[in-house]
Parts: sequence; C-alpha cells; structure tokens
Amino acid sequence: MYFVERRKIMPFSFEDKTVLITGASKGIGLGIAQAFAKQGAQVAIIGRQENPLVIDEINKNGGDTKFFSGDVTNHKSLKVAVSSVADYFGKIDIVCSNAGIFPTTLIENISDEEWESVMNTNVRGTFFLVKTCLPYLKKSSNGRVIITSSITGPITGYKGFSHYGASKAAQLGFMRSAALELAQDNITINAVMPGNILTEGLKDLGEDYLTRMAESIPLKRLGTPNDIAQAILFLASEGANFITGQTIVVDGGQTLPENLDGF
Ligand code: NAP
Repeated sequence: MYFVERRKIMPFSFEDKTVLITGASKGIGLGIAQAFAKQGAQVAIIGRQENPLVIDEINKNGGDTKFFSGDVTNHKSLKVAVSSVADYFGKIDIVCSNAGIFPTTLIENISDEEWESVMNTNVRGTFFLVKTCLPYLKKSSNGRVIITSSITGPITGYKGFSHYGASKAAQLGFMRSAALELAQDNITINAVMPGNILTEGLKDLGEDYLTRMAESIPLKRLGTPNDIAQAILFLASEGANFITGQTIVVDGGQTLPENLDGF
C-alpha cells in the first residue's frame, strides 16, 4: 500500500513553473518541451518558425504550451519574444538555452560567414538569452538556466566540427562565470552535455554515421531527446537546488572507453 502511494508521487513536479525553451520546434528542444509539459509546467517555445502541429501534439493531454516567434541570433527579436512570454504567462522561472546549429565543414572550407553563424547561434544566442531573461529570473523564487552544450568540444573532437566544438566549449566557459554572478539572486545555471542524440539535425549527418556511431556507444544505441530532457528536469527540480555551474554528460558511455576494444 505504502509502495503504491509512493509510486503516485511525481519525481519532478513543475505545476507552478513557467519554462522558456529555445529551439523546441523539433529535436532535443521538442523533447524538453514535452517532458516539462507532462510534469504540468507552462511551456513557452521560442523559435523562428511556428509548427502548430507540434504545439497541438504537446497540448493534446491538456498542456499549456505556446509558441513565440524569435531568433536567438537577433537580440531585438529575442527581447520581444521574451517579454511576450512574460506578458502571457506572468513570469519566467526556468530557461533552457537549447537552440543550436551544427554544420560539418573542414577548417579549410569554413567561410567567415559560417564561423560567425555557428558562434552567433550557439554562443552569442546563449548570452543574449540569459541576459534578456535575467530580470524575470531575478523575480522568480528559484530561477534556473540550463544550457544544452555537447560532449563535442568540451571533451571530444570530430573532424568538421572545429567551429561547433569551439562554440560548445565556449558555452561552458560562459556558464561558469555566469554561475557566480547569478548566485546572488539564487539563480542556478548548469549544462547538459549530450552525446549522439537521434534528432532531425543528427540525421542530416547520414545513415552511415548514425549506424557506426550507435555501434561505438557502450549502451549500443543513439540517445533520444527524452534522455536529455530527463537530465534537464533534474537540474530544474528542487533536487538540484544546491548545484550550479556544473555539467551532466548524457552519452550512453560514449566518452568512457580508453581504446576501441575497451567495452
Ligand atoms: P535540430 O534537430 O537541428 O534542432 C535545432 C533547433 O534549434 C530547431 O528547433 C531550430 O529551429 C532551432 N534553431 C536553430 N537556429 C535558431 C535560431 N537562430 N533561433 C531560434 N531557434 C533556432 O538540433 P538538435 O539535435 O535537437 O540540437 C539541439 C541542441 O542540442 C543544439 O544546441 C545542439 O548543439 C545540441 N546537441 C545535439 C546533439 C545531437 O546529437 N543531436 C548532441 C550534442 C548537442 P528552426 O526551426 O528555427 O530551425
């Protein structure tokens, strides 16, 4: 009986929380939005293009998810989107900086424009988002920021990802100093570091990449957006109240082996 009662308790409840997520029209961001909506949160998706089917799908079981148009590379556009979220929901408690791009190009072929595009989206976009949301997070009793970084850059390298890897490592450099600044307002900032997660973006790397990559992962599969979302729910939950400036690797053990026959 006691066991049955305990099973009814939701591990993470976000019923009184407003969550803002960038890049949630698909992929990992969509998984994050679905996971928060399932736990009762009010969810604001910021993206460049609305996909009404996505919002309907998240809301089909009574969720409260809404799309707001915004481009993370454009500070003005982001300001409008963030203030619209605050006007609509009345507050912002949790911010997920997830929008990101990952073109594969060898160094000799990376144009100035492509380098800037990756840095503007992945690094400057995270900075713009945190800066813009800060006044609202300060008003929350328990403000939270969670960044979707990567294992690529902070831990590993991959040919064609020099700009992407640099941007994902830069997000963590930003996070560590931000953690010290935000702490005075009881706001935490942490990051998840996904391995290879099966999303539309990853599928663009080709079938051969996906098959070989899945085989090289100790848990023998690619990750799912929900695998990442569950780590983010933890970092946004009360269980993580005393954790800031930290990272969680979610990669099925991909970064562990010391050699190819190591598992
Ligand atoms: P995805 O399937 O390509 O989705 C990317 C999302 O970001 C889309 O919703 C896209 O929206 C949005 N976005 C891109 N540029 C934007 C901008 N300027 N303003 C607003 N939204 C923008 O990618 P994903 O695989 O889910 O990746 C999401 C995050 O996880 C990225 O930060 C990526 O670096 C990180 N990550 C992914 C993997 C992986 O294996 N998939 C591994 C490690 C880290 P639009 O509809 O506007 O294009």
